[in-house]
Amino acid sequence: MRPKIKTEPKVRKRTRRKFRFKINKVYPWLKIALPILVVIFVLLGGSGLFWQRLTEGTIAPAAPMSLHVKVPDRVFRGNLEGKKLIALTFDDGPSAITTPQLLDVLKEKKAVATFFELGRNAAWNPEIVRRVVDQGNELGSHTYSHQNLVMISETAVREDKNATDMAFREIIGTVPTLTRPPYGNFNQRVMEILDTPLILWSIDSRDWESKDPAKIKEIAIGQARDGAVILFHDIYSTTVEAIPEIIDRLREKGFEFVTVSELARFKGVEIKKGEYYRDF
Ligand SMILES: [Zn+2]
Repeated sequence: MRPKIKTEPKVRKRTRRKFRFKINKVYPWLKIALPILVVIFVLLGGSGLFWQRLTEGTIAPAAPMSLHVKVPDRVFRGNLEGKKLIALTFDDGPSAITTPQLLDVLKEKKAVATFFELGRNAAWNPEIVRRVVDQGNELGSHTYSHQNLVMISETAVREDKNATDMAFREIIGTVPTLTRPPYGNFNQRVMEILDTPLILWSIDSRDWESKDPAKIKEIAIGQARDGAVILFHDIYSTTVEAIPEIIDRLREKGFEFVTVSELARFKGVEIKKGEYYRDF
C-alpha cells in the first residue's frame, strides 16, 4: 500500500505543473494579442465589415471614386416655343486651358453644348469633366485616344471602349450614352462594339483647319439651320474666341441652344444604338 500512495500524488503534481507551465507560456502572448484583435475589429468599422471580410475572405469592393449626382446648374432651357433649335458640339477635349474658358462663355451666355471628350484627356482633367456636366451640358465619348477605329483590330476597339468607359465611370460615376467616332469613321463592327448611338455632324466649322475666328463665325452663323449639329473643337483658343458672337448672332436669328439628346427629343427622334445621326 505504501508505495502506491506515494506514486499517485507524484503523478498528479507533475500534470498540474505541466498545465501551469503551458498557461504561463501563452498568457503573455494573449495579453498582447487580445487588445490588438480588439483594435483591428474597431478599425474594420464594426462587426458588419469584419464579418463580411471574414466570411468572404476578400476586401469589399470600393464605392465608385466619385458618384456624380449633382443637379446641373442650368437645367432650364428657357422658352423654346417657336425657336429654331441647334446643337453646338465640341470634340477632342477637355483642355486644361481652353475648355474652362469655353465653359465660362457658355455660363455667361446661359447656353449649353455637347462635349465629345477623349477618355485620355478626361482622366487628366476630371474637374473640368465634372464642370461640363454641372453646367447642364451633355457629355459624349470621343473614344480614349482618338484612334481611327476602322483601321485598328477588333480587340483594339474593345480595349479602347473599355478604357474610355472606365475613365468616365471614375469621374462621373457613369458612362457616356453617345459616341462620336474620331474622324467620323466607323463601320458595322465598330458600331456594335461601341454599343451607343453615333453622333456625327451636319455643319463642320473647320476650326481645326482655319484656326481663324472670323472664318469659324462665318461658317457657323452662315450655315446654321433648324435641327443642325455643328462641329467645333474646344482645344483651340481661336474657337473659344468665336463662340460668344456665334451665340449672340444665332439668337438674333431665332435659334436656341440645346444638347444633342434634347435636340433629338424635341424633334421627335428616338436615338438608338446601332444607328448614326448627322442632324435632327
Ligand atoms: Zn476628334
